[in-house]
Amino acid sequence: MSQIYDRVALIGLGLIASSMFWAMKRKGLAGEVTGFARSSDTRDIAREIGLCDRVCDSITEAVEGADLVVLCVPVGVMGAVAAEIAGALKPGATVTDVGSVKGDVIAQVAPHLPDKVHFVPGHPLAGTEHSGPRSGFAELFDNRWCLLVPVAGTDPQATARLRTLWEGLGSYVDEMDAEHHDLVLAVTSHAPHLIAYTMVGVADDLGRVTDSEVIQYSAAGFRDFTRIAASDPTMWRDVFLSNKDATLEILGRFTEELFALQRAIRQGDGDHLHAYFTRTRAIRRGIIEAGQDTDAPNFGRGGERHK
Ligand code: NAP
Repeated sequence: MSQIYDRVALIGLGLIASSMFWAMKRKGLAGEVTGFARSSDTRDIAREIGLCDRVCDSITEAVEGADLVVLCVPVGVMGAVAAEIAGALKPGATVTDVGSVKGDVIAQVAPHLPDKVHFVPGHPLAGTEHSGPRSGFAELFDNRWCLLVPVAGTDPQATARLRTLWEGLGSYVDEMDAEHHDLVLAVTSHAPHLIAYTMVGVADDLGRVTDSEVIQYSAAGFRDFTRIAASDPTMWRDVFLSNKDATLEILGRFTEELFALQRAIRQGDGDHLHAYFTRTRAIRRGIIEAGQDTDAPNFGRGGERHK
C-alpha cells in the first residue's frame, strides 16, 4: 500500500500511538511521523526506541504542517489538548482521535478546531492491558475493527482518506454516530471492564481465600478478569466519567439479570440457568466465527511488545 498522508502527528505516545506508528511504518502509509508526549521521560524513551521520525519537545511544533493529527491521549484531556494545538493546525488538515468514548470527546474537541480543519473522530477496537511508549506493536490493529464517527458536515473525502489509513493499519472500518457508538461500547467494553474490576476487587477482599490460592488457581476464569482489571487506571477512570449515561444504563440491566440468576440459583431453577447459558454460548460462538477471538481464553490479547 502506498503513502496516504505526507505528515502525521501523534499526540500522546502510549500503546495506541506507538502501535499506529509501527503499523504505519510496516506499510509506508505516512511520509514523516512526528510525535509529542507530555513528559520528557516518555519523549526520551520514544527517541531511544525510534518511535516517530521526529519527537518534538513542543506540542505545536509536532502538529505544524501535519496533514493528519491523531489525539492519542486519555479521554479526559482531549479538549485541553485540542485547545493547545488549535492555533498551529494547517488549513485543510484532518484531526482525529482514538478515544474510547465519542460523544464526550466530540463535545470537548470540536469547539476548539478552526473552520478549515476536518474533524473525523475514531476509535480502534483493539488494545491490551499494557500502556506507555514501549507497549505498542505493529499487529495490534490487524483484523480488528476501527469505528469512525464523522461529525455533521464533515468532508466525506477526509473521512474516506482516514478510512484508507485504518485499512492500511490492518483494520476493518465502520462508521456510526456517537450516541450509538457509546452505547455499543458500554455493552462490549466499558461495563465488562467495570465487572472485571469489581470481581478482582471482591477476590482481593475475600479473606478466607488466600492470595496465593487466588493466584495459583486463577486459570478457572479469574485470570482473564485480572488481565482486564490490570488496564490503565487513568484511561478507565476517564472512560467511565465520560460515558456515564450509557454505562449506567447497561449496568442497570446487568444488575437486573444478575438478580434473576441469583434467584434461580437460590430456588434451584436449573432450567433457567441452562437456558440462559445456552443463549450466552451462542454469542461466544458468533464472536469466534466473526474472527474476533480465538478459542484460547485470553480475550484475543497478546502479540509481541516493542522492546
Ligand atoms: P497510554 O499508553 O497510557 O498513553 C497515553 C499517552 O498520552 C502518554 O504518552 C501520555 O504522556 C499522553 N498524555 C497524557 N496526558 C497528556 C496531555 N495532557 N498532553 C499530552 N500528552 C498526554 O494510553 P493508550 O492506551 O495509548 O490510550 C490512548 C487513548 O486511546 C485513550 O483515549 C484511550 O481511551 C484510547 N484507547 C485505548 C485502548 C487500550 O486498550 N489501551 C484501546 C482503544 C482506544 P506521558 O507518557 O508523558 O504521561
